[in-house]
This record gives sequence, C-alpha cells and structure tokens, in this order.
Amino acid sequence: MHSDDQVFVRLMEGKLASIRATDMLPEELVALVEQVLPVQIEARNAAHVTLPDRASCASDEAMFAGSPLIMRENFPHDLDQALRLFPILLEILAGTGGAAAQAADTLRAAIAAGELDPAQALRALPAGDDTLFAVWRQRLPESPRALSFLAASALWPGLNAAALALAKHLPENLPHDRGHCPLCGSLPYITFLREKEGLRFGACSFCGHEHRVRRICCPYCDEGDTAKLKLFRVAEYPGVVVGVCETCSMYVKTLDYRELDKTVLPSLDDMATVALDVLAQGQGYKRPTLSAWGF
Ligand SMILES: [Zn+2]
Ligand SMILES: [Zn+2]
Repeated sequence: MHSDDQVFVRLMEGKLASIRATDMLPEELVALVEQVLPVQIEARNAAHVTLPDRASCASDEAMFAGSPLIMRENFPHDLDQALRLFPILLEILAGTGGAAAQAADTLRAAIAAGELDPAQALRALPAGDDTLFAVWRQRLPESPRALSFLAASALWPGLNAAALALAKHLPENLPHDRGHCPLCGSLPYITFLREKEGLRFGACSFCGHEHRVRRICCPYCDEGDTAKLKLFRVAEYPGVVVGVCETCSMYVKTLDYRELDKTVLPSLDDMATVALDVLAQGQGYKRPTLSAWGF
C-alpha cells in the first residue's frame, strides 16, 4: 500500500471510530464500509483506464459555457476490474449479517441461476439506466440498495482513477458558478470548505472529483439569492451546516471542519452526519443524489 493510502486508512479508522461512538448507524453498515474502502483504495492504484484524447473531450470554450469535460455515459472506467471486484464485494456484503447479508445471498443465487448478470448492472450505472436497479429494489425490500451499492463500489476505483488523471485537462480559471462536476456533469452529494479562506468544494456523486462551487449557492439549481437559501445547524454536529433551497426544495450538507482541525473524508462524513439528512427530509427537503456508496 502507498504511504498516502496508509494515511488514508488511518484517517478512515478515526472517522469510523467516531461514527461508532454516535450509535447513529447500524454496526453492519459501518463494518461494511470499513472493509470496502481499503479494497477500493488498493484497486484505484491498480485500475487501467484508457483516457480519451484531449481533442475528443469538450473544448475549453464549451467548458466555460458549462459543459463537462466528458459526459457521464462516456466517462472512462475499468469494467474488467469492476467485474473482478463485484464478487469480492458481494462476499464482503454476505459476511456483514442482517438484511444486507440476506440480500447478498439472494443476489448470489440469482447470478448462479443466470437471472442476474453483474456486467449488466456495471454497464447500466454509468449509462444512468435505472431499470435493472429498480427491479432489484423491489425484490429486496429489506435492503433495496444492495445492487446499486455493489455496482457503485465496484466501479468507483476506475472512475476515480480516471477523474484524478483527467483533472489536468480542466482549464485554469474555469468559472465555478454551476454546481455540477466539471469532469462528468454529475451533481455533488456533499460540499465542504477547505483552506484558510474557506473555498467551497463539492464531492462528485459519480466520479468522486472534488470541484470548486460558489460559497453561497444551491449546487443543484444554482440559486444564488440568499433570500431563497436558508442554513441550519445542529449543536451535536459542530462544523456541519445544512443548506436548504426554496427554489428547488433540495438540501445539501456543507462540512467546515477547519476550526475543529479535522480532515474531510466526504464519503464517510456523509454517513456520519445522516441524522442531518433525516432532519432535512423531515422538513420536506430532498436530496437529489445517493451517497458515494450507492445507498
Ligand atoms: Zn464527476
Ligand atoms: Zn436549489
């Protein structure tokens, strides 16, 4: 494992310990993520992605007008690796216990019987085709996101390796007045503040790229009128602000751990603050993206 990855794993362990201390999430879920994340980080280093020529991507001019570098359905990833990871992740899921383990057993049986082809799920996710996932949400009511979790987690290493490599093609001074990811056009699942001056970034729900967004705006509909944007905080979650938008009725969590001297790890911080999702959704606001885990 690279030394950066060791730092990452230590950070992950600290975050997971604090998630466990809050007792907000079932232990099966925490244990699942604890096993999956190191697998993904290793796989990201090993991913083989074929990057398109710069000329076949969006031009700088198109990007300044808001186009992403590559559309999500064409975004490079490592399908072969995802196919190899799928059964490994299924095995981890099967070992977690509870409803998720039962769902894993059902999925394994369906694959063995030829009723479910993992390759089909791995192709459907980048294509934005929900048909197959909808079928399995119905068939697994106790653990409806099991298949999207497996597909998203298996594809993530290749997608994120591609995102890291493609970020060099982003023009300097690209405006950040839109909330979507400049690499793939997807929406962020969480935003956070970084650096002394509090630059705001979004974590892309598809490729994981961390991109600048305006400090005061709704990253989903780009509303910037402060009369339409409201913020709320909860004492138990210092450093987290929930922004709700009256224009599109969406909400987004923003992490500001600078004064608490904590490092952001978006996919885990999102999980750790799920109580705030419950609050925002209880007030009728919606979240347009799944977590980085596909659930
Ligand atoms: Zn993206
Ligand atoms: Zn909005």
